[in-house]
Amino acid sequence: MENILDISIEMLKNWMKEKGEKQFRAKQVFDWIYKGIFEFDDMKNIPKSTKEILKENFYIGIPKTVARLESKEKDTYKFLFAYRDGNLIESVVMKYKHGNSICVSTQIGCRMGCKFCASTINGIVRNLTSGEILAQILAAQKEINERISNVVLMGSGEPFDNYENVVKFIKLINSENGLNIGQRHITLSTCGIVPKIKTLADENLQITLAISLHATNDELRKQVMPVANKYSISEIMEACRYYINKTNRRVTFEYALVKDFNDSFENAEELASLLRGLLCHVNLIPVNEIKENDFKKSTNDNIKKFQQRLLKHNIETTIRKEMGSDINAACGQLRRSYIESKV
Ligand code: SAH
Repeated sequence: MENILDISIEMLKNWMKEKGEKQFRAKQVFDWIYKGIFEFDDMKNIPKSTKEILKENFYIGIPKTVARLESKEKDTYKFLFAYRDGNLIESVVMKYKHGNSICVSTQIGCRMGCKFCASTINGIVRNLTSGEILAQILAAQKEINERISNVVLMGSGEPFDNYENVVKFIKLINSENGLNIGQRHITLSTCGIVPKIKTLADENLQITLAISLHATNDELRKQVMPVANKYSISEIMEACRYYINKTNRRVTFEYALVKDFNDSFENAEELASLLRGLLCHVNLIPVNEIKENDFKKSTNDNIKKFQQRLLKHNIETTIRKEMGSDINAACGQLRRSYIESKV
């Protein structure tokens, strides 16, 4: 049995032909799925015999909703989804004036080991397939009964540690036969796997690349991000320049502000000199405090000062709006608390 979400419409067309079925059935089947019909039996214009052979060969891999949390403001929804093998992942939907945005997971767990992050504490279980990542959007759209128009690959997992499935997923959701989500409405966030930044640049996509920088020099970065032992900040910057040259896209730098670690005046100055002249944008994130570590959020006052400092250097800087903090909307916390409650 294969997850039908893992194959393209062209592949399904070929499959139909091989089975002596009409090729246009492929599009009909996917149209139903994209409309939120997740049972072959409910696809009204598909003949019974076709449904039968579809059922013998494919399943529609939509995860089950294990938990659904809504923030008080009703602007953030968090879902805990279970795949067929019982593995759990989280997806978060944020409602903005400009449309609904989803944060999807790309792996079950993560092996990057960032010290502040809850997703990586127990390491990695496995990669998600492109269809499994797509299924998070389909399941979430059905849950909220609204279209999702923006996708950020910022949930659990390192997208570049699952490169092929992630790029397949991006092409799938961007396709006119798929969800038709514009490339500029897709953001991929990485901890900085340098060779893959360049490979992505060569794909000629118009997606936004976000780099989880979080520190202004290698020494500091190594203290919290093991990947910094492999790739230096200067190598990351060089890869970003390559990405910008190839795509003409502005790169985002994520910087989680941790009290007394990376939030000083000197840090802001150092960050500014790193980014000087680069087509970029800084997103300051008040670190989400998790119970497994002692990282504390910078004070609001300090966060503002940090932003002001960068703005003075003409570096476009925003402070990430905290949404859904009342529903543990960050970084693997819901999955962890669920798994812990079961053991
Ligand atoms: N692995 C990718 C994408 C997933 S993490 C990456 O590293 O970018 C998404 C973002 O959340 C990253 O910027 C990550 O560093 C950040 N993050 C993880 N734990 C966090 C926490 N406790 N508080 C704030 N941001 C956090």
